[in-house]
Amino acid sequence: MTDSASSRARQTRIVHPDLDLAPGFESFATPVMRASTVVFPNLASVRDADWRSDAQWRYGLHATPTSAALTQRLAQLEGGKHALLQPSGLSAISNVYFGIVKADDDVLIPDNVYSPNREHGDWLAHDFGVSVRYYDPMIGAGIAELIRPNTRLIWIEAPGSVTMEVPDVPAIAAAARARKVVTAIDNTYSAGLAFRPLEHGVDISVQALTKYQSGGSDVLMGATITNDDALHHALKLARMRMGIGVSVDDCSLVLRSLPSMKARFEAHDRSALALAHWLKARPEISAVLHPALPDCPGHAEFMRDFSGAGGLFSVVFDERYSAAQIDAFVEALELFAIGWSWGGAHSLAMPYDIASMRSASQWPHRGTLVRFYVGLEEEADLRADIERAMRIAFG
Ligand SMILES: *Cc1c(COP(=O)(O)O)cnc(C)c1O
Repeated sequence: MTDSASSRARQTRIVHPDLDLAPGFESFATPVMRASTVVFPNLASVRDADWRSDAQWRYGLHATPTSAALTQRLAQLEGGKHALLQPSGLSAISNVYFGIVKADDDVLIPDNVYSPNREHGDWLAHDFGVSVRYYDPMIGAGIAELIRPNTRLIWIEAPGSVTMEVPDVPAIAAAARARKVVTAIDNTYSAGLAFRPLEHGVDISVQALTKYQSGGSDVLMGATITNDDALHHALKLARMRMGIGVSVDDCSLVLRSLPSMKARFEAHDRSALALAHWLKARPEISAVLHPALPDCPGHAEFMRDFSGAGGLFSVVFDERYSAAQIDAFVEALELFAIGWSWGGAHSLAMPYDIASMRSASQWPHRGTLVRFYVGLEEEADLRADIERAMRIAFG
Protein backbone atom coordinates (compact mmCIF):
# COMPACT_ATOMS: atom_id res chain seq x y z
CA MET A 1 0.00 0.00 0.00
CA THR A 2 1.32 3.47 -0.83
CA ASP A 3 1.54 6.06 1.95
CA SER A 4 -1.26 8.12 0.43
CA ALA A 5 -3.48 5.01 0.23
CA SER A 6 -2.90 3.95 3.85
CA SER A 7 -3.69 7.43 5.16
CA ARG A 8 -7.16 7.46 3.49
CA ALA A 9 -10.40 6.99 5.38
CA ARG A 10 -11.90 3.50 5.55
CA GLN A 11 -14.82 4.52 3.35
CA THR A 12 -12.49 5.72 0.59
CA ARG A 13 -10.51 2.48 0.87
CA ILE A 14 -13.70 0.47 0.38
CA VAL A 15 -14.30 2.33 -2.88
CA HIS A 16 -10.61 2.16 -3.93
CA PRO A 17 -9.46 -1.13 -2.38
CA ASP A 18 -5.90 -2.35 -2.25
CA LEU A 19 -6.40 -6.10 -2.66
CA ASP A 20 -3.94 -8.94 -2.35
CA LEU A 21 -5.35 -11.76 -4.52
CA ALA A 22 -3.23 -14.80 -5.27
CA PRO A 23 -2.33 -15.03 -8.97
CA GLY A 24 -2.79 -18.07 -11.17
CA PHE A 25 -6.54 -18.64 -10.94
CA GLU A 26 -7.94 -20.45 -13.96
CA SER A 27 -11.35 -21.92 -14.71
CA PHE A 28 -13.36 -22.91 -17.77
CA ALA A 29 -16.04 -20.31 -17.11
CA THR A 30 -15.83 -17.01 -18.96
CA PRO A 31 -15.58 -14.31 -16.27
CA VAL A 32 -18.66 -12.10 -16.01
CA MET A 33 -17.29 -8.59 -16.49
CA ARG A 34 -19.99 -6.05 -15.80
CA ALA A 35 -19.52 -2.36 -16.54
CA SER A 36 -21.19 0.86 -17.33
CA THR A 37 -18.01 2.92 -16.85
CA VAL A 38 -14.98 1.58 -18.66
CA VAL A 39 -11.84 3.17 -17.22
CA PHE A 40 -9.41 4.70 -19.73
CA PRO A 41 -5.69 4.77 -18.90
CA ASN A 42 -5.37 8.44 -19.93
CA LEU A 43 -7.10 11.21 -21.86
CA ALA A 44 -5.24 10.52 -25.09
CA SER A 45 -6.92 7.10 -25.24
CA VAL A 46 -10.33 8.76 -24.72
CA ARG A 47 -9.68 11.16 -27.58
CA ASP A 48 -8.26 8.48 -29.88
CA ALA A 49 -11.06 5.99 -29.21
CA ASP A 50 -12.58 4.76 -32.48
CA TRP A 51 -16.06 3.19 -32.22
CA ARG A 52 -15.30 0.97 -35.23
CA SER A 53 -12.42 -0.78 -33.50
CA ASP A 54 -12.84 -3.90 -31.38
CA ALA A 55 -9.34 -3.39 -29.98
CA GLN A 56 -10.43 -0.69 -27.48
CA TRP A 57 -12.95 -0.84 -24.64
CA ARG A 58 -15.08 2.29 -24.46
CA TYR A 59 -18.38 1.82 -22.67
CA GLY A 60 -20.13 -1.09 -21.00
CA LEU A 61 -23.16 -0.76 -23.24
CA HIS A 62 -21.10 -1.53 -26.33
CA ALA A 63 -18.93 -4.43 -25.14
CA THR A 64 -17.04 -5.95 -22.23
CA PRO A 65 -14.67 -8.93 -22.42
CA THR A 66 -17.66 -11.18 -21.57
CA SER A 67 -19.82 -10.09 -24.50
CA ALA A 68 -16.75 -10.07 -26.77
CA ALA A 69 -16.01 -13.69 -25.83
CA LEU A 70 -19.50 -14.53 -27.07
CA THR A 71 -19.38 -12.47 -30.28
CA GLN A 72 -16.03 -14.00 -31.24
CA ARG A 73 -17.32 -17.53 -30.72
CA LEU A 74 -20.52 -16.84 -32.68
CA ALA A 75 -18.55 -15.36 -35.56
CA GLN A 76 -16.20 -18.37 -35.59
CA LEU A 77 -19.13 -20.78 -35.60
CA GLU A 78 -20.53 -19.30 -38.83
CA GLY A 79 -17.19 -18.57 -40.47
CA GLY A 80 -17.77 -14.83 -40.06
CA LYS A 81 -15.46 -11.98 -39.19
CA HIS A 82 -17.81 -9.89 -37.02
CA ALA A 83 -20.76 -10.50 -34.73
CA LEU A 84 -22.97 -8.03 -32.84
CA LEU A 85 -25.19 -8.98 -29.91
CA GLN A 86 -28.77 -7.78 -29.56
CA PRO A 87 -31.27 -8.14 -26.70
CA SER A 88 -33.50 -10.46 -28.79
CA GLY A 89 -33.63 -12.17 -32.15
CA LEU A 90 -36.22 -9.66 -33.25
CA SER A 91 -33.98 -6.74 -32.30
CA ALA A 92 -31.22 -8.32 -34.44
CA ILE A 93 -33.75 -8.26 -37.31
CA SER A 94 -34.79 -4.65 -36.67
CA ASN A 95 -31.14 -3.62 -36.34
CA VAL A 96 -30.59 -4.87 -39.90
CA TYR A 97 -33.42 -2.64 -41.10
CA PHE A 98 -32.22 0.44 -39.21
CA GLY A 99 -28.58 -0.10 -40.14
CA ILE A 100 -29.11 -0.76 -43.84
CA VAL A 101 -32.41 0.73 -45.07
CA LYS A 102 -33.44 4.35 -45.47
CA ALA A 103 -36.52 6.15 -46.84
CA ASP A 104 -37.24 5.45 -50.54
CA ASP A 105 -35.25 2.20 -50.48
CA ASP A 106 -36.96 -1.02 -51.53
CA VAL A 107 -36.94 -4.23 -49.46
CA LEU A 108 -37.91 -7.77 -50.53
CA ILE A 109 -39.26 -10.13 -47.86
CA PRO A 110 -40.09 -13.82 -48.41
CA ASP A 111 -43.59 -15.10 -47.73
CA ASN A 112 -42.25 -17.74 -45.30
CA VAL A 113 -40.68 -15.10 -43.05
CA TYR A 114 -40.91 -15.02 -39.24
CA SER A 115 -44.11 -13.01 -38.69
CA PRO A 116 -42.65 -10.17 -36.56
CA ASN A 117 -40.15 -9.52 -39.37
CA ARG A 118 -43.14 -9.07 -41.71
CA GLU A 119 -44.70 -6.67 -39.19
CA HIS A 120 -41.47 -4.70 -39.00
CA GLY A 121 -41.40 -4.39 -42.78
CA ASP A 122 -45.03 -3.27 -42.86
CA TRP A 123 -44.24 -0.65 -40.20
CA LEU A 124 -41.36 0.77 -42.29
CA ALA A 125 -43.60 0.81 -45.34
CA HIS A 126 -46.46 2.51 -43.51
CA ASP A 127 -44.58 5.09 -41.43
CA PHE A 128 -41.07 5.51 -42.85
CA GLY A 129 -41.40 5.75 -46.63
CA VAL A 130 -39.74 2.41 -47.39
CA SER A 131 -41.03 0.27 -50.26
CA VAL A 132 -41.66 -3.28 -49.00
CA ARG A 133 -42.62 -6.17 -51.28
CA TYR A 134 -43.13 -9.86 -50.56
CA TYR A 135 -41.87 -12.72 -52.70
CA ASP A 136 -42.49 -16.44 -53.10
CA PRO A 137 -39.73 -18.11 -51.04
CA MET A 138 -39.33 -20.79 -53.76
CA ILE A 139 -38.50 -18.15 -56.41
CA GLY A 140 -34.77 -19.01 -56.56
CA ALA A 141 -32.84 -17.17 -59.31
CA GLY A 142 -36.16 -15.62 -60.41
CA ILE A 143 -35.62 -13.05 -57.64
CA ALA A 144 -33.49 -11.14 -60.22
CA GLU A 145 -36.68 -10.04 -62.00
CA LEU A 146 -38.00 -8.43 -58.81
CA ILE A 147 -34.88 -6.35 -58.14
CA ARG A 148 -35.36 -2.63 -58.82
CA PRO A 149 -32.74 0.14 -58.96
CA ASN A 150 -33.66 1.19 -55.40
CA THR A 151 -33.76 -2.36 -53.97
CA ARG A 152 -31.43 -2.25 -50.97
CA LEU A 153 -32.13 -5.38 -48.93
CA ILE A 154 -33.41 -8.91 -49.58
CA TRP A 155 -34.42 -11.03 -46.61
CA ILE A 156 -34.15 -14.83 -46.76
CA GLU A 157 -35.38 -17.40 -44.25
CA ALA A 158 -34.16 -20.96 -44.66
CA PRO A 159 -36.20 -22.95 -43.88
CA GLY A 160 -39.15 -20.76 -42.91
CA SER A 161 -39.60 -21.59 -39.24
CA VAL A 162 -43.31 -22.50 -39.60
CA THR A 163 -43.92 -23.66 -43.19
CA MET A 164 -40.41 -25.15 -43.46
CA GLU A 165 -40.07 -24.16 -47.14
CA VAL A 166 -36.36 -24.14 -47.99
CA PRO A 167 -35.37 -21.47 -50.52
CA ASP A 168 -32.46 -21.79 -52.94
CA VAL A 169 -30.17 -19.57 -50.87
CA PRO A 170 -27.12 -19.57 -53.20
CA ALA A 171 -29.29 -18.63 -56.21
CA ILE A 172 -30.99 -15.72 -54.38
CA ALA A 173 -27.68 -14.54 -52.91
CA ALA A 174 -25.95 -14.64 -56.32
CA ALA A 175 -28.74 -12.67 -58.02
CA ALA A 176 -28.63 -10.06 -55.24
CA ARG A 177 -24.86 -9.77 -55.30
CA ALA A 178 -24.85 -9.25 -59.08
CA ARG A 179 -27.01 -6.15 -58.48
CA LYS A 180 -25.18 -5.04 -55.30
CA VAL A 181 -28.23 -5.69 -53.13
CA VAL A 182 -27.56 -6.67 -49.50
CA THR A 183 -28.89 -10.07 -48.38
CA ALA A 184 -29.77 -10.93 -44.78
CA ILE A 185 -30.86 -14.41 -43.72
CA ASP A 186 -32.73 -15.46 -40.60
CA ASN A 187 -30.52 -18.47 -39.83
CA THR A 188 -32.09 -19.31 -36.46
CA TYR A 189 -33.30 -22.73 -37.64
CA SER A 190 -29.78 -24.05 -38.22
CA ALA A 191 -28.22 -22.33 -35.16
CA GLY A 192 -25.20 -21.72 -37.40
CA LEU A 193 -24.42 -25.44 -37.05
CA ALA A 194 -26.25 -27.07 -39.96
CA PHE A 195 -25.94 -24.22 -42.46
CA ARG A 196 -23.28 -21.54 -42.96
CA PRO A 197 -24.93 -18.89 -45.15
CA LEU A 198 -21.89 -16.60 -45.40
CA GLU A 199 -20.23 -19.39 -47.38
CA HIS A 200 -23.20 -19.37 -49.79
CA GLY A 201 -22.90 -15.69 -50.68
CA VAL A 202 -25.23 -14.19 -48.05
CA ASP A 203 -24.04 -10.91 -46.49
CA ILE A 204 -25.60 -11.00 -43.01
CA SER A 205 -26.66 -13.99 -40.90
CA VAL A 206 -29.19 -13.31 -38.12
CA GLN A 207 -29.53 -15.61 -35.12
CA ALA A 208 -32.13 -15.70 -32.36
CA LEU A 209 -29.72 -16.91 -29.66
CA THR A 210 -32.87 -17.30 -27.57
CA LYS A 211 -33.27 -20.71 -29.20
CA TYR A 212 -30.56 -23.41 -29.31
CA GLN A 213 -27.67 -21.16 -28.24
CA SER A 214 -29.40 -20.47 -24.93
CA GLY A 215 -30.95 -23.91 -24.76
CA GLY A 216 -32.65 -23.12 -21.45
CA SER A 217 -35.88 -21.34 -22.49
CA ASP A 218 -34.79 -18.55 -20.13
CA VAL A 219 -32.61 -16.08 -22.09
CA LEU A 220 -33.52 -13.62 -24.83
CA MET A 221 -30.71 -12.61 -27.16
CA GLY A 222 -29.92 -12.19 -30.83
CA ALA A 223 -26.96 -11.60 -33.10
CA THR A 224 -25.92 -10.48 -36.55
CA ILE A 225 -22.87 -12.09 -38.12
CA THR A 226 -21.08 -10.83 -41.23
CA ASN A 227 -17.77 -10.81 -43.08
CA ASP A 228 -18.30 -7.35 -44.53
CA ASP A 229 -16.60 -4.53 -42.59
CA ALA A 230 -18.83 -1.77 -43.99
CA LEU A 231 -22.03 -3.66 -43.25
CA HIS A 232 -20.85 -4.54 -39.76
CA HIS A 233 -20.04 -0.89 -39.07
CA ALA A 234 -23.44 0.23 -40.38
CA LEU A 235 -25.12 -2.27 -38.02
CA LYS A 236 -22.86 -1.26 -35.14
CA LEU A 237 -23.60 2.44 -35.66
CA ALA A 238 -27.38 1.86 -35.69
CA ARG A 239 -27.07 -0.23 -32.53
CA MET A 240 -25.06 2.53 -30.80
CA ARG A 241 -27.46 5.25 -31.89
CA MET A 242 -30.41 3.32 -30.50
CA GLY A 243 -28.57 2.67 -27.23
CA ILE A 244 -28.83 -1.10 -27.49
CA GLY A 245 -26.76 -3.50 -25.44
CA VAL A 246 -27.08 -6.88 -23.72
CA SER A 247 -26.64 -8.04 -20.15
CA VAL A 248 -23.32 -9.79 -19.56
CA ASP A 249 -25.08 -12.16 -17.16
CA ASP A 250 -27.20 -13.30 -20.09
CA CYS A 251 -24.03 -13.60 -22.19
CA SER A 252 -22.53 -15.85 -19.56
CA LEU A 253 -25.61 -18.12 -19.68
CA VAL A 254 -25.29 -18.45 -23.46
CA LEU A 255 -21.52 -19.01 -23.17
CA ARG A 256 -22.26 -21.82 -20.71
CA SER A 257 -24.62 -23.54 -23.16
CA LEU A 258 -22.63 -23.17 -26.38
CA PRO A 259 -20.27 -26.15 -25.96
CA SER A 260 -23.22 -28.56 -25.64
CA MET A 261 -25.23 -27.02 -28.49
CA LYS A 262 -24.11 -29.42 -31.23
CA ALA A 263 -24.85 -32.50 -29.10
CA ARG A 264 -28.29 -31.08 -28.18
CA PHE A 265 -29.03 -30.14 -31.81
CA GLU A 266 -28.22 -33.66 -32.96
CA ALA A 267 -30.41 -35.20 -30.24
CA HIS A 268 -33.35 -32.94 -31.24
CA ASP A 269 -32.70 -33.84 -34.89
CA ARG A 270 -32.82 -37.62 -34.25
CA SER A 271 -36.10 -37.51 -32.28
CA ALA A 272 -37.78 -35.01 -34.61
CA LEU A 273 -36.88 -37.03 -37.70
CA ALA A 274 -38.15 -40.27 -36.12
CA LEU A 275 -41.43 -38.57 -35.13
CA ALA A 276 -41.78 -37.01 -38.60
CA HIS A 277 -41.39 -40.43 -40.28
CA TRP A 278 -43.93 -41.97 -37.90
CA LEU A 279 -46.44 -39.13 -38.49
CA LYS A 280 -46.01 -39.51 -42.26
CA ALA A 281 -47.60 -42.96 -42.01
CA ARG A 282 -50.55 -41.77 -39.87
CA PRO A 283 -53.95 -41.46 -41.60
CA GLU A 284 -54.72 -38.20 -39.71
CA ILE A 285 -51.84 -36.38 -41.44
CA SER A 286 -51.94 -35.17 -45.06
CA ALA A 287 -48.39 -33.75 -45.25
CA VAL A 288 -45.27 -33.77 -43.10
CA LEU A 289 -43.27 -30.59 -43.64
CA HIS A 290 -39.84 -31.64 -42.45
CA PRO A 291 -37.08 -30.42 -44.78
CA ALA A 292 -35.37 -33.81 -44.71
CA LEU A 293 -38.56 -35.47 -46.07
CA PRO A 294 -39.65 -35.18 -49.72
CA ASP A 295 -43.09 -33.61 -48.97
CA CYS A 296 -41.36 -30.40 -47.94
CA PRO A 297 -40.86 -27.72 -50.62
CA GLY A 298 -37.12 -27.16 -51.00
CA HIS A 299 -36.23 -30.70 -49.85
CA ALA A 300 -33.59 -30.97 -52.63
CA GLU A 301 -32.02 -27.62 -51.67
CA PHE A 302 -32.02 -28.71 -48.03
CA MET A 303 -30.20 -31.96 -48.82
CA ARG A 304 -27.69 -30.02 -50.92
CA ASP A 305 -26.96 -27.15 -48.50
CA PHE A 306 -27.73 -28.33 -44.93
CA SER A 307 -26.01 -30.90 -42.72
CA GLY A 308 -28.84 -31.41 -40.21
CA ALA A 309 -32.28 -30.36 -39.08
CA GLY A 310 -32.73 -29.86 -35.32
CA GLY A 311 -36.05 -30.24 -33.52
CA LEU A 312 -38.51 -28.18 -35.57
CA PHE A 313 -41.02 -29.42 -38.14
CA SER A 314 -44.67 -29.04 -39.09
CA VAL A 315 -47.51 -31.31 -40.13
CA VAL A 316 -50.70 -30.58 -42.05
CA PHE A 317 -53.71 -32.44 -40.70
CA ASP A 318 -56.27 -33.93 -43.03
CA GLU A 319 -58.88 -31.35 -44.00
CA ARG A 320 -61.66 -33.48 -42.52
CA TYR A 321 -60.63 -32.17 -39.09
CA SER A 322 -62.02 -28.77 -38.13
CA ALA A 323 -59.82 -26.04 -36.68
CA ALA A 324 -61.61 -26.64 -33.35
CA GLN A 325 -60.62 -30.34 -33.44
CA ILE A 326 -57.00 -29.40 -34.08
CA ASP A 327 -57.14 -26.97 -31.14
CA ALA A 328 -58.51 -29.82 -29.00
CA PHE A 329 -55.63 -32.05 -30.17
CA VAL A 330 -53.00 -29.45 -29.23
CA GLU A 331 -54.63 -28.82 -25.85
CA ALA A 332 -54.83 -32.56 -25.14
CA LEU A 333 -51.05 -32.96 -25.51
CA GLU A 334 -49.34 -33.33 -22.15
CA LEU A 335 -45.64 -33.37 -23.03
CA PHE A 336 -45.89 -30.72 -25.79
CA ALA A 337 -46.51 -27.33 -24.14
CA ILE A 338 -48.30 -24.41 -25.78
CA GLY A 339 -45.98 -21.44 -26.06
CA TRP A 340 -43.62 -19.37 -28.21
CA SER A 341 -39.91 -19.84 -28.67
CA TRP A 342 -38.05 -23.14 -28.89
CA GLY A 343 -34.51 -24.48 -28.55
CA GLY A 344 -34.85 -25.68 -24.96
CA ALA A 345 -35.38 -29.12 -23.45
CA HIS A 346 -39.20 -28.99 -23.56
CA SER A 347 -41.34 -29.97 -26.54
CA LEU A 348 -43.89 -27.48 -27.91
CA ALA A 349 -46.84 -27.52 -30.31
CA MET A 350 -48.74 -24.67 -31.98
CA PRO A 351 -51.43 -24.52 -34.69
CA TYR A 352 -51.11 -21.88 -37.43
CA ASP A 353 -53.47 -20.46 -40.04
CA ILE A 354 -50.87 -20.17 -42.82
CA ALA A 355 -53.12 -18.75 -45.55
CA SER A 356 -53.62 -15.60 -43.41
CA MET A 357 -49.83 -15.20 -43.03
CA ARG A 358 -49.00 -14.95 -46.76
CA SER A 359 -49.46 -12.40 -49.52
CA ALA A 360 -47.17 -13.32 -52.45
CA SER A 361 -47.76 -17.03 -52.91
CA GLN A 362 -50.55 -19.57 -52.72
CA TRP A 363 -50.55 -22.00 -49.78
CA PRO A 364 -51.46 -25.38 -51.31
CA HIS A 365 -52.78 -27.12 -48.17
CA ARG A 366 -56.36 -26.96 -46.87
CA GLY A 367 -55.94 -28.75 -43.55
CA THR A 368 -54.62 -27.03 -40.41
CA LEU A 369 -50.86 -26.84 -39.87
CA VAL A 370 -49.39 -27.69 -36.47
CA ARG A 371 -45.77 -26.94 -35.77
CA PHE A 372 -43.94 -29.25 -33.39
CA TYR A 373 -40.75 -28.46 -31.57
CA VAL A 374 -39.24 -31.72 -30.35
CA GLY A 375 -37.36 -31.31 -27.07
CA LEU A 376 -35.12 -33.70 -25.17
CA GLU A 377 -37.80 -36.05 -23.81
CA GLU A 378 -37.69 -39.72 -24.92
CA GLU A 379 -39.11 -39.95 -28.42
CA ALA A 380 -41.33 -42.96 -27.56
CA ASP A 381 -43.08 -40.93 -24.85
CA LEU A 382 -43.67 -38.05 -27.28
CA ARG A 383 -45.13 -40.47 -29.82
CA ALA A 384 -47.47 -41.95 -27.19
CA ASP A 385 -48.53 -38.44 -26.17
CA ILE A 386 -49.43 -37.54 -29.77
CA GLU A 387 -51.36 -40.81 -30.20
CA ARG A 388 -53.26 -40.20 -26.97
CA ALA A 389 -54.12 -36.60 -27.92
CA MET A 390 -55.33 -37.73 -31.37
CA ARG A 391 -57.65 -40.30 -29.73
CA ILE A 392 -59.07 -37.64 -27.40
CA ALA A 393 -59.54 -34.99 -30.10
CA PHE A 394 -60.59 -37.13 -33.08
CA GLY A 395 -62.29 -40.06 -31.33
C1 LIG B 1 -37.63 -16.86 -32.19
C2 LIG B 1 -37.27 -16.38 -33.54
C3 LIG B 1 -36.88 -15.06 -33.76
C4 LIG B 1 -36.90 -14.01 -32.70
O1 LIG B 1 -36.19 -14.29 -31.55
P1 LIG B 1 -36.57 -13.56 -30.17
O2 LIG B 1 -35.30 -13.66 -29.39
O3 LIG B 1 -37.71 -14.33 -29.60
O4 LIG B 1 -36.92 -12.15 -30.49
C5 LIG B 1 -36.53 -14.70 -35.04
N1 LIG B 1 -36.57 -15.58 -36.06
C6 LIG B 1 -36.94 -16.86 -35.88
C7 LIG B 1 -36.95 -17.78 -37.04
C8 LIG B 1 -37.31 -17.30 -34.62
O5 LIG B 1 -37.71 -18.57 -34.45
